[in-house]
Amino acid sequence: MMGQQQLSKKGNDVYLLDFLKDLGIKRLSATGENIQGLCPLHNEHRRSWGIHSETGKWNCFGCGAKGDLAILVSRIKNIDIEDAKRYLRSPEFLKFKINNLRDIKKENRLIKIPYGFSIVNEFNCPNYLKDRISINAIKHFKIGICSDERYKDYAIIPICESSKIVGFVARCLHNNTEFKYLYPTGMVKKSFLFNFDEILANKFSKLILVEGAFDVMGCYDKGLTNVAAIFGAHELSDVQLAKIMGLDGIKEIILALDSDTAGTKATKKIYDQLSGICTVTRLCLPKGKDIDELTKEELYNVLKMRRHYINIGGFKKWQGRDS
Ligand SMILES: [Zn+2]
Repeated sequence: MMGQQQLSKKGNDVYLLDFLKDLGIKRLSATGENIQGLCPLHNEHRRSWGIHSETGKWNCFGCGAKGDLAILVSRIKNIDIEDAKRYLRSPEFLKFKINNLRDIKKENRLIKIPYGFSIVNEFNCPNYLKDRISINAIKHFKIGICSDERYKDYAIIPICESSKIVGFVARCLHNNTEFKYLYPTGMVKKSFLFNFDEILANKFSKLILVEGAFDVMGCYDKGLTNVAAIFGAHELSDVQLAKIMGLDGIKEIILALDSDTAGTKATKKIYDQLSGICTVTRLCLPKGKDIDELTKEELYNVLKMRRHYINIGGFKKWQGRDS
């Protein structure tokens, strides 16, 4: 089975090769992490130009030019560096990443649900789950337990795509553990969005992004179904970004990550990733509370009060008072 490292490298190679070809770079070939080609900045017949597929750093032994991906785009397209950076966040550029989604899907398909998995019911539902979500949500999201030793103290939360289980998260049923969450070996969690099938099927105009599966389920219990989890506080992976961009009709993405430092940091990064694509707003959660801890009333209130990010003379700030 392919490890995460290898997988992302493979993905990078594929999209970068496609992208460089589209930029008009000739005679491209890839060896390991390096891609070589004819330098697009000077006339040559032998390849002296190379780019690193992970970092996007390139240089030419012929003319001495070098830089990163933004500089390359700016030189070849003859646009200034800020426009080049904007281009690298645009749907036009990201379509190259969408194209290699298929490969990553294939790898993740190897994940199997643990042995003896069964969806919990009113009678065998662990207290940990009962305290957090309704039986209705448990059934809807097919939360289960299993007889596999590794997961004996865990609830299994399946991740579905196209109505098939493609991965899962295991959540420990008590908090005195080092390993709150377990993921199956080989699963690239950042290539998934929890509840994505629902989002895909309903063509929502607004999408709420949260950190974890329990956030999604908590919202579901309060009547919100246009919620997807990105599995942690981090910027969106290329695959997650590509999936979101492939959605029909999304006009606004509402960021509702946890209100701690990691969540706040990730919110800013995701804003940068999505701002070229649609309107991005942020939920301002009461201090110390995550979205799944709000009452229904509080949830709809913070939704009404969501904030826009504004950009005044290069100085970015969330509109309104920041807490
Ligand atoms: Zn050159």
